[in-house]
Amino acid sequence: MDETLTNYLLQTLPDEENWVTDLEQTAHNNGVPIMDRVSMQFVMQLIRLTKPGQILEVGSATGYSALRMLQANPGAKIVTIERDRQRYNQAIRNVRERGLQYHIRIIYGDAIDVLQNMTNDAFDLVLIDAAKGKYQRFFELSTPLLASDGFVLTDNVLFKGYVADSEKQHPRYQKIAQKIRAYNDWLINHPDFTTTIVPVGDGIAISKTKERKELSSDA
Ligand code: SAM
Repeated sequence: MDETLTNYLLQTLPDEENWVTDLEQTAHNNGVPIMDRVSMQFVMQLIRLTKPGQILEVGSATGYSALRMLQANPGAKIVTIERDRQRYNQAIRNVRERGLQYHIRIIYGDAIDVLQNMTNDAFDLVLIDAAKGKYQRFFELSTPLLASDGFVLTDNVLFKGYVADSEKQHPRYQKIAQKIRAYNDWLINHPDFTTTIVPVGDGIAISKTKERKELSSDA
């Protein structure tokens, strides 16, 4: 996003409690990628509006976004999956430190395996924020676990501007951008979901199951 705009939006954010800025600072110091502050605030606002009781997150890192989602709806239950042992351990510590282990369950493992073995859960919100090359697989595996009126958020779908601008050259980013572009195309054309891409932070896709009426009007 445009730097002036980002700086302006950052200034509009509320002051945060110390634990929030501590988690952000520690992640930054250790090179752990967490959701940017403007996107996080956007997701929290969506949560305040929709009050999802059960949330599934793919990609916990150190538990920052899970803790913040819970902050937006303190009654929620969150299940979050992380495959990096060190980050998983740190997430466990961060959640315990806040006494929120009964609200946030962190599962260690590759989400592809974990999701395939999950049953009987009706999540109101799924947040996909893990390996970008596997977004489609995460979506396919997590949406059967979605409640009928639930929705899915996918982060980083505009990836530093590289997704929209195929001329923008960067040896590594270009490849990731191609994968995300393919995911976006697939998602936008998904017969069962309506998707809107919001250019906030690194880009967030909001996908909602189509109502029956919407499905039949497409036919
Ligand atoms: N949502 C976190 C936050 O904002 O605090 C940030 C998540 S970070 C962008 C992505 C995380 O997904 C990384 O910690 C990475 O180890 C994890 N990850 C990537 N692929 C994964 C997979 N297949 N299964 C589980 N975790 C995965």
